[in-house]
Amino acid sequence: MSAVSRRTNWAGNIAFAAPELHRPATLSELQAVVARASRLRALGTGHSFNDIADSPGAQVSLAGLPPEVEADSARSVARVSAGLTYAEVAPRLHAAGFALRAMASLPHISVGGACATATHGSGIASQNLAAAVTAMEMVTADGDLVSLHRKDDGFSGAVVHLGALGVVVSLTLEVVPAFDVAQQVYENLPLAVLDDHFADIMAAGYSVSLFTDWRAPRLTQVWVKQRVGDPAAEVAEAPWFTAMPADGPRHPVPGQPAQTCTEQLGVPGPWYARLPHFRPGFTPSAGDELQSEYLLPTEQTVAGLHALGQLSQAVAPVLQICEVRAIAADELWLSPCYQRDTVGFHFTWVPDADRVLPVVRLVEQRLALLDARPHWGKVFTTPPEALRASYQRLPDFLGLIGRYDPAGKFRNAYTGRYLAG
Ligand SMILES: Cc1cc2nc3c(=O)[nH]c(=O)nc-3n(C[C@H](O)[C@H](O)[C@H](O)COP(=O)(O)OP(=O)(O)OC[C@H]3O[C@@H](n4cnc5c(N)ncnc54)[C@H](O)[C@@H]3O)c2cc1C
Repeated sequence: MSAVSRRTNWAGNIAFAAPELHRPATLSELQAVVARASRLRALGTGHSFNDIADSPGAQVSLAGLPPEVEADSARSVARVSAGLTYAEVAPRLHAAGFALRAMASLPHISVGGACATATHGSGIASQNLAAAVTAMEMVTADGDLVSLHRKDDGFSGAVVHLGALGVVVSLTLEVVPAFDVAQQVYENLPLAVLDDHFADIMAAGYSVSLFTDWRAPRLTQVWVKQRVGDPAAEVAEAPWFTAMPADGPRHPVPGQPAQTCTEQLGVPGPWYARLPHFRPGFTPSAGDELQSEYLLPTEQTVAGLHALGQLSQAVAPVLQICEVRAIAADELWLSPCYQRDTVGFHFTWVPDADRVLPVVRLVEQRLALLDARPHWGKVFTTPPEALRASYQRLPDFLGLIGRYDPAGKFRNAYTGRYLAG
């Protein structure tokens, strides 16, 4: 156990108030830590931008537990230690001949933390990362190890759990045969093209991301990631919807070095080295930043883009880059994509909360009219009652808390605000 004077999340905008950080080396040590604690939260890699991972008592990191990755080819699943990062898991899966269907923009995050908040990448047929979970093992409040399986009652509620049910030790993930991906960046696509062609553009690759700085009515970049050998995915001839292929590698955030990004220019490579935008071993994104993201039903895409266009004079001065992504619907109760195909409007802001928060409020007031839900792990100011009302299965999730954590050991200020009411 360590009591450190000042610990923060990755972005440095949250100083954890938790006075203790435990780093057990074995499952039984973890069980003892959980059983002993009066209040406890699991900490992944701390990449969330709000107080979701903070604790009024202890925090526990699983980074010291044995780094297990066990592929089961007969069942097309792999059981992985929840404290491992995707950067640690993915090459091991690839070496065993497997791939994950989706990855986030960065592999630096823990599997446990990413699934807990419904972290996602982009792709019209790609669900969020938690949707791959077929089973999980979790240490509950009294230190018991509980196994949950997809067929179990309440499983769809337990996978995106915001850390509120227990400490997840392992996740079993669906895998597919390993595949290669080639990515190409296009530049300067007029935003107006999206009015009629958003669906075509998002369908042009296995994973497509659109970037704009809202300083002009154009997409600065379009990242198209194609599965190699996919006959349906012939990369368009230039110009593509009037956009031209970039003449060298690019970083989506203006002014940032392209060598921190995954390889582009159509060079094929393994799925895990192309699906994320950012390479492990380097600072992802800008480094100095805040992030927000709003997830809307896909049919609200054009209305959302127009609403943001009207706010561009407020947004642009505090924005580093905005990314538009697609995520397929899932059945996970607390997933922002629950039963709806989704478009994500992501914002990488300047690292200045005083200037950013008023704009966040403005953006979310407009997007609320379009049924937007905020990303659980990013900066948002959505009124708790509105947030709670947007999750129809929240009462069922509260039932799971009652089942696994009746005394509220895993409760913190964040879950008190957004879950409990
Ligand atoms: C540069 C950058 C890029 C990002 N890109 C994306 C992106 O492409 N897509 C996207 O959707 N999000 C993105 N995010 C957000 C990020 O994926 C989420 O905030 C994610 O939850 C972070 O994972 P973590 O391991 O850091 O979890 P933490 O932030 O440490 O914790 C998040 C939550 O998970 C819980 N938790 C963590 N581990 C466990 C466990 N083992 N058992 C139980 N609960 C646990 C914590 O208690 C907390 O509630 C990005 C963030 C950054 C900083």
